[in-house]
Amino acid sequence: MAKEELECSFCGRKKPETNLLIAGLDAHICDRCIEQAHGIVAEEALHSDNSDLTDELMLKKPRIIKKFLDEYIIGQDYSKKILSVAVYNHYKRLLQKKTDDDVEIEKSNIIIVGETGTGKTLLAKTIARMLNVPLAIVDATVLTEAGYVGEDVESILTRLLQAADYNLEKAQNGIVFIDEIDKIARKGDNPSITRDVSGEGVQQALLKLLEGTVVNVPPKGGRKHPDQKFIEVNTENILFIAGGAFSGIERKISKRLNLQAVGFSASMKEDVVDRDNLLKYIIPKDLKDFGLIPEIIGRLPVLTYMNPLDAVTLRAILTDPKNAIIKQYKKLFEMDGIKFTITEDALNYIVERAVEYRLGARGLRSLCEAVLTDAMFEMPDGEEKTLEVNRDYVVSKLNKSIIKKLKAVS
Ligand code: ADP
Repeated sequence: MAKEELECSFCGRKKPETNLLIAGLDAHICDRCIEQAHGIVAEEALHSDNSDLTDELMLKKPRIIKKFLDEYIIGQDYSKKILSVAVYNHYKRLLQKKTDDDVEIEKSNIIIVGETGTGKTLLAKTIARMLNVPLAIVDATVLTEAGYVGEDVESILTRLLQAADYNLEKAQNGIVFIDEIDKIARKGDNPSITRDVSGEGVQQALLKLLEGTVVNVPPKGGRKHPDQKFIEVNTENILFIAGGAFSGIERKISKRLNLQAVGFSASMKEDVVDRDNLLKYIIPKDLKDFGLIPEIIGRLPVLTYMNPLDAVTLRAILTDPKNAIIKQYKKLFEMDGIKFTITEDALNYIVERAVEYRLGARGLRSLCEAVLTDAMFEMPDGEEKTLEVNRDYVVSKLNKSIIKKLKAVS
């Protein structure tokens, strides 16, 4: 074929009529057709983007959610299952709102009861990570009723907005984790003795937020910037997860189960009741007896508990999760070209100490820091490029360092 006969296979323009003619296998395309095609592709992408956030989220079925949680959280199967279903239902509810249906699905806000360091926050974080939605972690202890020293409940939404980079749509589909919800329990049974600004009052203030309402939120947070424009945040689609240790609630559970009673029926119960883990039997009434007001309990309809962490679980936490502590140290050393290994009995020794000092999973991290700080300080610019940690190494480092302080804390 002669050169001047070349033409665009799409529009038929001859080469001299184009600015550029690109050759393919058996065809040519001119610059104009490329631009047009690009326009079509961009438009298509825009339309397919219309499937909004909730449609995307809906793709995750409970089993998939649970599997994802399994990668990061050891044990706690019951809670993982309950949360997977609650999260799934939450996003189903959002979808359903768009259709005309008269069955209204209520919010599935969650409350998790469990000792500190058992993974409550980790659960909330992992769910937010999986769904790729913003997460705000707030501490209930700093909240007070409006007008008192402390933070108003609206500050929770300020945090969520910040976590969402001020993208309102994202924030309104986000997750809020309220830690230490037990600390705002009503103190004492008679609510009228004194003004209870950080207890029942806060619970009352939280109610509306949990249920779903439009709140005027100061985007920069509370009282320091009085002139800022408020942002209206609708909390209807925000999933709230509350967590707390509720220490002492076992006594209420045991009382309800009538475990203190003497006699035949009590000894029958002993056989079936797991006295070491009474949280298993928790029901909403126990939360009420602890001092949460019934309205709050009603708005946190999904109740679950965390198991205390035993040695086997702690051992697994050290090495098994996707971002396990030991894996993180390996990576850190690797970045300096150092090969870090640790023996099984060294790991077991760390676990024994964590159990002994009742430090839970959080203690594992402090213990590892105590063991490895010297190496992390000295090795990066040293000659030695391998670090083999065995039991003796751990014992010597722990004896010399922080361990006594840890003991004092526990
Ligand atoms: P909580 O909120 O119950 O006080 P966290 O979720 O903050 O506890 O847990 C503290 C740390 O302990 C987490 O960052 C995590 O590394 C570790 N951890 C606790 N429980 C688990 C678990 N079941 N699986 C994996 N890691 C855990």
